[in-house]
Amino acid sequence: MDFKDSPDEASYRAQVRAWLAEHAPGHELPRDRDASEDELVALARRWQAAKAAAGYVGITWRKDVGGQGGTPLQSVIFQQEEARYRVSNVPFAVTMGMCVPTIYTYLTPERALPMVRRAVDGEQIWCQLFSEPAAGSDLAGIRTRAQRDGSDWVINGQKVWTSYAHRSDYGILLVRTDPGVVKHKGLTMFYLDMKTPGVDIRPIRTLPGEAEFNEVFLTDVRIPDSQRLGNVGEGWKVSLTTLSHERMAITKPADAPGVDELIALMQALPGESGGTQVDDPSVRDAIARFYVNDMGLELLRMRAQTALSKGQAPGPEAAIGKLVMAKTRQDIGAFALDRLEQAGIAETDDLRIKPFRYFYWWAPGLRIAGGTDEILRNIIAERVLGLPGDLRLDKDLPFNQIK
Ligand SMILES: Cc1cc2nc3c(=O)[nH]c(=O)nc-3n(C[C@H](O)[C@H](O)[C@H](O)COP(=O)(O)OP(=O)(O)OC[C@H]3O[C@@H](n4cnc5c(N)ncnc54)[C@H](O)[C@@H]3O)c2cc1C
Repeated sequence: MDFKDSPDEASYRAQVRAWLAEHAPGHELPRDRDASEDELVALARRWQAAKAAAGYVGITWRKDVGGQGGTPLQSVIFQQEEARYRVSNVPFAVTMGMCVPTIYTYLTPERALPMVRRAVDGEQIWCQLFSEPAAGSDLAGIRTRAQRDGSDWVINGQKVWTSYAHRSDYGILLVRTDPGVVKHKGLTMFYLDMKTPGVDIRPIRTLPGEAEFNEVFLTDVRIPDSQRLGNVGEGWKVSLTTLSHERMAITKPADAPGVDELIALMQALPGESGGTQVDDPSVRDAIARFYVNDMGLELLRMRAQTALSKGQAPGPEAAIGKLVMAKTRQDIGAFALDRLEQAGIAETDDLRIKPFRYFYWWAPGLRIAGGTDEILRNIIAERVLGLPGDLRLDKDLPFNQIK
């Protein structure tokens, strides 16, 4: 593993740092988390536009699709430096991280470019219409049907957990076009204008009280065949393009409290036998564990960075990063609330406490989105440790014969 930047990387990092120091502070999230969703989305759009104008969006994309033609490592360097600020990419993480790469991979540049440009500039938001009530981890089990009707397809079914569908201009939509073949083979991908008649978006309220994701009902929705991405029956292959970007796009939330904030809180709370909470060996022990987890994540990140700098793709170890990052965020929140006793469950405007409460409620979502803890453990078991595979009883059955 290489801990040092090469001269080229160091020079790119210095350039990025200087730009961020000048521009990021004016785009940071409010500390009290009291901004409305309108304000948060407007903030994210402005930050997206600022980055686009400076050439820091689509760093690794080809120039002919509006990218910078840079290296994966430059993209990692930008993400690392951006993570030092409380700037938010929500809802552009899905737009830029998953949907737009799928669009420019499967549409001709002439058709993709106008869409990509508007998304890059923060004007257009996209969502990912994959999960359904009976298909999440087992995504190939989706039931939403598309039937051919002349030059159109008619779509009927339901999607769920669709982040920012209510703010989106377009979505990428995975549907079943052939139920008579094995489940991975009968799928096709389209892009969908979210204003199309028959699209009904209903919000789902989450534990922290927000409604950032939705149920999306699709009733006799007509999509022209020209909006198909990839060949009929090859939707699974297209979805892998999207999903391969997904875990890279899920990073530690910009304003999640970490070890430093936990130490500050423990130093402010009275200890059980005088002094403060940090004098308690069990508190010190917990802080050390969280610190070790975060250092492990940092080393994993550096390992991925080393692979990228040698022109290799990061391996399935990326699953470890997402697994540990999400669980550690929830554990830090739970530990802080536990130590606060009754004050941990009372409503408060105290900014030393509020972020811990918020992320305690929010982290379970982080542990599900982009692959649940169990699915990530399966990946680690099978592809990192080489243990025997999960049972897949429906693997060779046509979809319409699966019980
Ligand atoms: C915050 C958030 C945002 C999201 N945004 C989107 C979005 O924008 N678009 C979208 O399409 N989806 C989105 N999702 C959905 C997400 O992809 C799914 O929730 C996830 O894939 C899990 O699927 P599921 O909810 O159907 O749970 P299930 O797959 O039904 O899993 C239920 C439980 O069973 C376990 N389990 C399932 N299979 C196995 C197995 N083989 N071995 C061991 N355990 C197993 C799971 O780990 C879990 O504990 C989002 C989810 C969240 C929480």
